[in-house]
Amino acid sequence: MKLTCPTCKNVLDDVADDYPSRPFCSARCKLADLHAWLTEEYKISEPLPLEPEDERRHLN
Ligand SMILES: [Zn+2]
Repeated sequence: MKLTCPTCKNVLDDVADDYPSRPFCSARCKLADLHAWLTEEYKISEPLPLEPEDERRHLN
């Protein structure tokens, strides 16, 4: 089957169904994506405590 790596956009024309790194072209891209996902998750879970208060002050 054809596979387009979500990390590096490399296109592999003939990939086995049990290819271990699917949907990535390599274990390296798989790890890079996982790392990006974890970094993003960390950013999202960071608290933003001052934002609602600042908005209220602005409206008043
Ligand atoms: Zn790749």
